[in-house]
Amino acid sequence: MTEWSDWAERELASLRAISRYREPLPFDGDGPIGRVRDSQLISFASNDYLGLASHPQVKLAALSAIERFGTGALASRLVVGTRSLHVELEAELAAWNLSERALVFSSGYSANLGALTTLGGQDVTLFSDELNHASIIDGCRLAKARTVIYRHLDLEQLQSLLRQTPGRKIVVTESVFSMDGDTAPLSALAELCVEHGALLVIDSAHAALGPKLRPIAGLEVLHVGTLSKTLGSLGGFVAGSARLIELLVNRARTFIFTTGLSPADTAAALAAVRIVQSQEGEQLRARLRSLIDMLRPGHPSAIVPVILGDDAAAVTAASQLRAAGIHVPAIRPPTVPKGTARLRVALSASHTETMVGTLQAALAQLNLVASLKHA
Ligand code: PMP
Repeated sequence: MTEWSDWAERELASLRAISRYREPLPFDGDGPIGRVRDSQLISFASNDYLGLASHPQVKLAALSAIERFGTGALASRLVVGTRSLHVELEAELAAWNLSERALVFSSGYSANLGALTTLGGQDVTLFSDELNHASIIDGCRLAKARTVIYRHLDLEQLQSLLRQTPGRKIVVTESVFSMDGDTAPLSALAELCVEHGALLVIDSAHAALGPKLRPIAGLEVLHVGTLSKTLGSLGGFVAGSARLIELLVNRARTFIFTTGLSPADTAAALAAVRIVQSQEGEQLRARLRSLIDMLRPGHPSAIVPVILGDDAAAVTAASQLRAAGIHVPAIRPPTVPKGTARLRVALSASHTETMVGTLQAALAQLNLVASLKHA
């Protein structure tokens, strides 16, 4: 035992004492059913919103890419780590996001870091919604810009902050908030940004069903997204005007100083983004919509939180659900604000009505139906 391991043990004990200790448990399966330890569970925990991670065409695309190009990109993108697959994927992502150009990153996390550190700087003020994801928070920190946090979705407060602030401005928001599943009013935010000459950065990681912002005259917008949720693969992207993306290619350290996305991940995302834009994509979204309506009618996204408040209560409820054959994660601070620990139910087009029915019955057993119905 070294001094450092003693220290680590004390830190871990303090996390255990407040129900915040965590460990990654293997969930072995392909789709919503998998094995955890020795039991079979239905998962409502993944972000595979359209079920594309298990889609035969997506899997086949990954396998063929390995056959053609091997397993790794083997260098950073600007050295010799770019394949034509990356270029095709970037063109498809640009079209999907109604943007001129897109750039792929190793993850959504590094896409946010790359965008915010490249565009933010000492002469910039960043305005960030208080419930934005950790990757946005870290991007703001690393950007060395002044960061102003505005109250969740409070456009009045944002407007008055923008009015008071001279100089270059960036507003950054999620379009669907990852832990509450509520949505940002993108058109109103865009109008505010045009009025104040601010750049709008929209993180659409969870926007399997939209909302989507149409291009607006006079608005400079960057769409940040991930390949690892709706697109069932791994990686992230930023889409926007050709000029800004060109600058990211040359300045974003999380793009420049890391190995390109693997051929399999790239090809899987390419196949998936083509499906998303096809008739089949429409059908998958309609199916997801109807499953959401079973659980919470009219709810705008696939993320349905059941707020319990207390950390220990959330952990207990998650373990009771596990005993009933259902995997729903307990989400605690610092992922969500103190006093708002919750179960985070994530629905997917790959769930069946029977699976959602099983979840509803289990929540009823725990007297959680009222919390489920109301956000
Ligand atoms: N943005 C948001 C809103 C997210 O929820 C996440 C992942 N949970 C990310 C970015 C990061 O994406 P990735 O998992 O691809 O790094």
